[in-house]
This record gives sequence, structure tokens and C-alpha cells, in this order.
Amino acid sequence: PARPTATVPEPGDRLLGGLLSPDFDDGSCLSRYRAALYRRQSLHILSSHLVSSLRRYESLHRLCGPGTSAYARAVARLRESMWPSSSSNTSDSAPSECKYLIWSPLEGLGNRILSIASAFLYALLTDRVLLLHPHGDDLGDLFCEPFPGSTWVLPEKDFPIGSIDHFNVVGTKESLGNTLGRRGEQGAPAPVPWMYVHLMHDYKDRLDRRFFCDDGQDALRGVPWLVLRSDNYFVPGLFLVRRLEPELTRLFPRRDAAFHHLGRYLIHPSNAVWGMVSRYHGSYLAAAEDRVGIQVRDFYWAPISRHDRYAQIASCAHRENILPTVLANSTAAPASSAAGRRKAVLVVSLHGVYYEKIRDIYYEHGAAGGEAVSVFQPTHLGGQYSGERQHNQKALAEIVLLSFSDVVITSAVSTFGYVSQGLAGLRPWVLMGPVGGKTPDPPCRLAATIEPCFHTPPNYDCPARTGGDSGRMVRHVRRCEDFPEGVQLV
Ligand code: GDP
Repeated sequence: PARPTATVPEPGDRLLGGLLSPDFDDGSCLSRYRAALYRRQSLHILSSHLVSSLRRYESLHRLCGPGTSAYARAVARLRESMWPSSSSNTSDSAPSECKYLIWSPLEGLGNRILSIASAFLYALLTDRVLLLHPHGDDLGDLFCEPFPGSTWVLPEKDFPIGSIDHFNVVGTKESLGNTLGRRGEQGAPAPVPWMYVHLMHDYKDRLDRRFFCDDGQDALRGVPWLVLRSDNYFVPGLFLVRRLEPELTRLFPRRDAAFHHLGRYLIHPSNAVWGMVSRYHGSYLAAAEDRVGIQVRDFYWAPISRHDRYAQIASCAHRENILPTVLANSTAAPASSAAGRRKAVLVVSLHGVYYEKIRDIYYEHGAAGGEAVSVFQPTHLGGQYSGERQHNQKALAEIVLLSFSDVVITSAVSTFGYVSQGLAGLRPWVLMGPVGGKTPDPPCRLAATIEPCFHTPPNYDCPARTGGDSGRMVRHVRRCEDFPEGVQLV
């Protein structure tokens, strides 16, 4: 194919170089055309092939999405194949014109956004329509619709496949892994109306990982409905599928900005969330010349005392010149070129202690260069309550606020941090995990890429049908620095 052309969006270009469709009513989603104005300009090349594929996808979604006659026919056929009834007039044998991928929510917001982005890319590559299973109110008033003239929310009430939240790798007989296992014994497959794709952490020693092989893709190709459960950013895995790789290379000539583009295309906070974001930004951050974001995520499986964690943050911020050091005992800083500059520090964490310590330091001491350092934290919710609407809205608002930073410090392995850095298009300074319960040395590292890490890659050698190392199979997929069991695009 001809070499695709590529562009970098101009500052102030509200459609981001063609990434966004112009076909939306502005008021229905205030963030869509505004959020990028709050961020540093994207320097990441966007291919014209991605732009045209997105427009093609939008037409498909308009044709096949909920509310269309094609959708009604596809659901009726699915129902009929699950519970055949002689009275039905939908049992025609013509192939379905539309194919679907149903995404179902799992884990926290960061995981969800990353798995939605991965599911969307897979849908784009395989001409499927992506629909999100709402699971009651789990996605309530969080995101805007990303596809013009349609919805990406599955009408839950009329959908015939139930109990999706109980689907699992062993017990769900419709899973890809179980289906491939049976076919191994039985030979020629019969066509099935739907299949389950299980890409959670426990798929790793099962046949389900053949999702990332050509033969797994063959098994899924003709199936009209796929149900997916994944808490993972599995985009790097798609680059391991030999058949998908050429098209992926055309879509993303620079592979290391895949989530950056997918995230900016798909994830637009609802007006309720955008209200929080824009009010907070206007009140606390807008006036500053420099904005620093610090995201601190503490995982129970990587214990470290709050004291040592704070020491790690301070040591990273001073070593890398992200925050100024403070004067030992003077009350006013000497004159310097930085004097009078305002630096706003946004701290984002479930806990208040890191914010309090950083704020107190600059209250009690002058900054060495004379900058005025102000420190803010929107919430400290104490714990994770991913089923609650307002909790999720606040988490999304903070992810988006972090993405407005000029420099960002994130926490290793946190998908919350991955989403912010991806939307920002910034390589973060990553607070590495503790070593022996203590602050690691160095305390942080500049990430090699803005891409999120795929935490549970298949580690499977497709031709040999045996275990392999996903980080050594193709040129642009490598082990992650922050989590060596995972792989990422570089
Ligand atoms: P991860 O666990 O760090 O990979 O990120 P997730 O977003 O998947 O899950 C963590 C969840 O905990 C988030 O979705 C939030 O609900 C909550 N959470 C974690 N850190 C923060 C934070 O800094 N601010 C807020 N508001 N919520 C947080």
C-alpha cells in the first residue's frame, strides 16, 4: 500500500487533525472539542489512515447500532438461536450484516478505560460494532457518546445473553478457549451465534490466549456476537497477531502513541464530570505558568510506609528538577529568574497525607528559586468504590485534570496513571515500586514511552503452540520497565 500521510494537529484545531468527527452538537458534550485546549499540544503523529478508518467505523456504527433495523434483526436472530421458537419469522439463513463486540466492565476506572480502548481497536480491525454493557448504573453519566448519531451503550433490557458478570475462564462453555478445546476433540466446527472472549489475568495458561494467534482469530471471525471480559490494555497483544499487524502498522505508523490517539478519540468526560474539571482548573490551576501533576497510588501488594513513600516523591521531584528545593531557614528567597513564577502542583491520591506534606513544606519554607508553589488535591476518598457513580465521576475528573499537566509523576503499574499520561501525551516520571519495603534507588524514572503496559500478555508461541515470551516476538513489543511481566509498545 501507499505510504500513509500523517499530520500533527495545529494548536487550537478543535478536531485534533481529523481525529474527532465534526458531526456532534457541541452542548451535548462540552469536553469533546474543549479538553485539548487545556492540554499541551499533541506532538504525536496521526495517520490519515487512522482518520479514514474512524470515519468508516462511525458509518458502520450508525448502520448497525442500537435503534436500527439491522440491530433489531441481529438481536432477534441471537434470541432465536438461543431459544428457537416455531412462531418466529427471523430464522432466515442469510448471513448477519452486522457483527458486534460487547464489552463488560471490570475493575477500576483506569482498567476500564484501557480495556474499552483495546476493545474498540479490535472492533475497528475486525469490522465489529462495539457496545458497552452498562451493568446497571456502572457507567452512569461518566462518558459522552463517542460515535455520532448513535449510542455505544448496549440496551441491557432486551439483550438475550445474561449473567455476563459471572462468565469465567473455566465454567463458560462458550469461551474461545473451551470452544477450541472441544474442536480439538471433535473436528469440524458448527457455526455458533455467540462466543465469549476471556482476557483477564487468569487466561494465561489456557487456550484462551490463542485469541492472540491467527487460528484463534479464525475461530471468532464469522461469529456475529462476541462478549468480552478484560481488565487489560491488550493493544500490544493485537500487534502479536500476524494477520492484524500490517493494518495496525498503517493505523499507527508510530506505535508508541496508540492509546494516546484512541483515548483522545473515545474518552470524553460527560458534562457533569467536565463541570468538575473545568471549575477546578479555573479555580486552582489556570493562573499558574507551570503545572505539575503527581499521582500517588499505593498497592497492598507493594507495601511501603507513608513516610518512605513521601521521601520517594520528594527525592524524585528534587532530583529531576520537577519541584524546587526549599531554603533551610530563610523566610524569603533571594531574587532569581524564577522569582514570581507560579507553579501549581496537583496531587492525586486516595490519601491526603502526601498532599499535606508537600503543601506544608512550601508553606513553612521558601522555594530556592523564589517560585510561588501552590499545592492542591481535589479529593482523598480513602478507598476504592468503583460501583458508585459519584466516586467514578471524581476519579475521571482527576484523571483528566492530571492530563493537563506540563510534567507528570505517576505510580508504577497504575492504570489510572497510564490513562492520564496517555491523554496528556507525556512520558511520565514513574515512581518505581518499593524494594524490600523501602524507597527504591533511583526513586523514579522517565518512562520509555507514553504507552500503557499490558500486564498479562499471552506469552504464547502460536506456530509452536507452546509457551513463549511476548516481549521477544516482534520489534515494537517489549517488556515494561515498571512491570517486567507485562509488555508495551515502543
Ligand atoms: P489502578 O488500580 O491504579 O490500576 O487504577 P484503576 O483506576 O483501575 O482503579 C483504581 C480506582 O480507585 C479508581 O478507578 C478510583 O475509583 C480509585 N482511585 C485510585 N486512585 C485514585 C485517586 O487518586 N483519585 C480518585 N478520585 N480515585 C482514585
